[in-house]
Amino acid sequence: MTGSYNIISEYIILTLAILILYLMISTFPRKTSIYIVDFLGILFSILAIVLSRVIITLATHPENFKPWLFNLVCMAYFMIYSTILELIYGYIDQLSFKQRQYKKKLVVHMFCFTVFSFLVYSCLFLFGKMYVVSEDSIQLTHWFQLYLFFGMFTSVAAFIDTWKHRDSIAKKVRWFIYAFCPFDFALLIFQLIRQDILFVSITYFVPFFLFYILFHSNCYDEVNGCQNSYSFSTRFVENIRMHRDFLIIYVEFPRYVHLEHTYSKEIINNATAAISRQIEALYGGIYLYAISDFQYALFSNIKHPGRELVIIHQVNEILATPITYGKETFSPLYKMVAFTSSALINNLTKLSSFQKYLMHKLDAISGSAYYIARPQDYTNFAEQYELEQLLAQIKANDDLDDKHVLCFAQPIYNVDKKSFRTAEALMRLQVNNKIIYPDKFIPAAERSNCIHTLTRIILNKVCKKVHELSALYDFDAITVNCSTIEFSDPNLHQELLSIIHKNGIDCSKICLELTESAMFEDYDTVLLNIQKLREAGVQFYLDDFGTGYSNLERILTCPFKTIKFDKSLLYKSMDDKVIRDLMVSMVDVFKRQGLLLLVEGVEDENQSKYSIDKGFDYIQGYNYAKPLPIEKLTDFFTPKQKK
Ligand code: C2E
Ligand code: CA
Ligand code: CA
Repeated sequence: MTGSYNIISEYIILTLAILILYLMISTFPRKTSIYIVDFLGILFSILAIVLSRVIITLATHPENFKPWLFNLVCMAYFMIYSTILELIYGYIDQLSFKQRQYKKKLVVHMFCFTVFSFLVYSCLFLFGKMYVVSEDSIQLTHWFQLYLFFGMFTSVAAFIDTWKHRDSIAKKVRWFIYAFCPFDFALLIFQLIRQDILFVSITYFVPFFLFYILFHSNCYDEVNGCQNSYSFSTRFVENIRMHRDFLIIYVEFPRYVHLEHTYSKEIINNATAAISRQIEALYGGIYLYAISDFQYALFSNIKHPGRELVIIHQVNEILATPITYGKETFSPLYKMVAFTSSALINNLTKLSSFQKYLMHKLDAISGSAYYIARPQDYTNFAEQYELEQLLAQIKANDDLDDKHVLCFAQPIYNVDKKSFRTAEALMRLQVNNKIIYPDKFIPAAERSNCIHTLTRIILNKVCKKVHELSALYDFDAITVNCSTIEFSDPNLHQELLSIIHKNGIDCSKICLELTESAMFEDYDTVLLNIQKLREAGVQFYLDDFGTGYSNLERILTCPFKTIKFDKSLLYKSMDDKVIRDLMVSMVDVFKRQGLLLLVEGVEDENQSKYSIDKGFDYIQGYNYAKPLPIEKLTDFFTPKQKK
């Protein structure tokens, strides 16, 4: 580094770096765990270029030479440059999914490099080797060579690191690094040769610039003018972190989804763009995001409370107004949900679940519609979300003794023997000392494919209890509810039987309850499972008879032992003669087939007398016993010694 310098390319890079920094701040880029490295890289690049400009000014004016100032600036530049090199190396290293596990190791590595650079610099400085002061300039040759050497070293290290971890870096990204490192190296060599033209900033700014473009930039869609979903996520997360109040509106265009009309994609896109521009024009603080081709989100901070309602209604008005594009006039079908920030919706997973939860409320409406979240929606959703998390956890743990699953049981009265010889196992979930009832969690468990895990857990718990009770009490069996969905799995019988066998109990002590809807599933597989379990000795109860669309023929061809009449049928038959006659004839048909009959939901003496009178063999209901923890069955079953 001597004499006069051509630094035009440094000015160009400085301008570009400032522009990128502005984009980084204003466009809410995709913030992964290594985004900060890229951000710091751009920031330090700007600092480095400014400092190099200062060094050149000082070096070309030896008349004002102040050693302390010059040394300080050179040292600062050197340390910033070595930090930049570490950031480049660190970023490349973290592109390997395997290396991401060793973040701490990388930080230690980077720290050691800083100390090393500092020591090398200090040594050369102490030996007075950094620069030579002459009359017309200050020659920085060694200083310049040293840092260019550090740059080359980093290029080689990044190349080797990428090669070492090649199996864990995306192919294109890997090849990009393989190509860039030698280019960077060559550029540094060229810089070493041509010290009169300064272009070293290209070697460090370009990697950060490319990292930004490739991995973090959130472009605006040039067709609809909206930013992408990552930008929306970043804005949401940052506003949550800053505890700001905001409004979010999601708009879906289901008609586009189903393509009922054969409009071209171009027309649809331009129509959406026209709507977007009108919405944007409502108020300066509105930002629009294209989550997918057919789903859009609006974000707006709420600076004046009450403003959100005005925005929601204005947006709805715009959506409801037909728009014209070319020769076409549109009235797009839309579904819109709106909600404001809440401590209960505090992360991205909850946000996307809440959006679905609210959209679900519009499912039944076939035309355009909108829904504004009510206070209870937030709490109901939070409850449902907590439940879904719990179910996911239970499913992932797959522990047959899972403590979250509680086994309750309701003793069943045997009319003939005038005692309790069977009971129905009823499941409850426990979370944070709160008990959740099946009407809440069974549908959610069926939706999330967790029901089978729950059935295996409850069966295991029941088997354990049966094992304990068998030695001391005289009883027939405990029934376990099964979900009809499960019976379409051809391996079900093996799984259930293995749990029963593992607990060393007789299969006849376990009965399974199935509802009529099982008959409408994959009937052949359902029947196969029933038959295999029957052969092993497990008996079947038909649950909730009288609630579904009964297919009597199918019921009679299935090998059920007992039919459970639903309480609704009992209550209706007591009020209505036609239903009563129907029930009496059903009882008659089933009895003639040798089936046992049970009636559910018997709550008082009147219903009990009626049921006995109609010929039921078993009675289940609050009048006899309420569901209680399965341990309490000992209060109802007859001890063996008393026999
Ligand atoms: P279900 O199989 O019809 O179970 C009977 C339900 O009626 C139980 O509700 C019981 O507490 C309730 N009940 C009992 N006696 C009376 C009464 O006298 N009057 C009234 N009104 N109700 C009575 P629970 O425990 O809330 O269970 C509700 C449903 O959840 C069950 O209906 C069953 O379909 C399902 N369920 C419960 N446990 C399990 C399970 O382990 N697995 C599966 N797949 N489903 C289960
Ligand atoms: Ca049942
Ligand atoms: Ca039932």
